[in-house]
Amino acid sequence: MSRLISVVAPIYNEGPGVDRFVERLSQVLRGENFELVLVDDGSADDSWERICKLAASDERVRGVQLSRNFGKESALLAGLEHAEGDAVVVIDSDLQHPPSAIPAMVRLWQDGFQVVEAVKRNRTGQGLIGRLGGKLFNRAFTGLTHVDLVNATDFRLLSRTALDALLRLPEHSSFFRGTSNWIGFRRTTIEVDIDHREGGASRWTFRSLFRLAVNGLTSFTSAPLHLVTMVGLAFAAFAVLLGAQTLIRWVRGGSVAGFPTVILLLLVLGTFILLGLGVIGEYLARIHEEVRARPRYLVQEKSETPKPVVIGQRAERS
Ligand code: UDP
Ligand code: MG
Repeated sequence: MSRLISVVAPIYNEGPGVDRFVERLSQVLRGENFELVLVDDGSADDSWERICKLAASDERVRGVQLSRNFGKESALLAGLEHAEGDAVVVIDSDLQHPPSAIPAMVRLWQDGFQVVEAVKRNRTGQGLIGRLGGKLFNRAFTGLTHVDLVNATDFRLLSRTALDALLRLPEHSSFFRGTSNWIGFRRTTIEVDIDHREGGASRWTFRSLFRLAVNGLTSFTSAPLHLVTMVGLAFAAFAVLLGAQTLIRWVRGGSVAGFPTVILLLLVLGTFILLGLGVIGEYLARIHEEVRARPRYLVQEKSETPKPVVIGQRAERS
């Protein structure tokens, strides 16, 4: 038997997209020894029924249902922990990641690469301002975290060795794109065209993207904290200069420049203090989350043993 390839896909309210996805994958992977781990991330529609039906008719399909919507990152983790293959491919179930790239990724893995990342060749559906803003933000973000938010995708293949390393990371709010970079290992990239969504709508809102960016930053770098310190120091230097000038004028009996200065100082200082507190708060929130150490997902049902089980806590975390 050739080596087993696991394909892990998170599914959230994909409806008929589930059947489409499984069909495409079986086509693309015909002749390969593969399993399909479909994680239902608490869908409110009939996604889980569809997964069960598919699992009943095809033993290579396995379903895991989470007890509620835990978000894509947690669903991915659940899938990765349930995958049994010698290599694992993580892919979106909305067919935006072209399954046709998987055979090429598998070949690279057979050539000895441990991590094969798919990077975007094109960029779909964004205006000029969005692109420019995205580019600037991405440059800053990549510089700080070494994670390319814009061109990188979650579509990647991990060897068993790399996956085991990844699963050893104990972080609660994991950030797959970042952590799968952080682990290192012999890696390569492959260019893919990201398709437009087939059916349904993207679940990313500005808010969830902002959260993802903040999570990525706070879990990969403490640079924002240092930035607060640096700005604080700059203000200190400014304070000495301005203070000296004010004192000298006062001693000479001259008038100190009045109201506008006070207002400006208040505004600038107030803003900075609040931002600084916010930055500290973000890190504090992360610490709080990690310390609580709740399981990152709960399984309600699995397709092959249809009785309720509760797991999700890692062995190392017990
Ligand atoms: N997804 C999930 N849980 C969520 C949101 C999304 O499992 O809470 C899945 C979704 O089914 C899809 C993938 O994550 O397979 C990517 O979601 P989406 O297409 O909404 O994001 P985008 O492609 O816009 O990044
Ligand atoms: Mg999508």
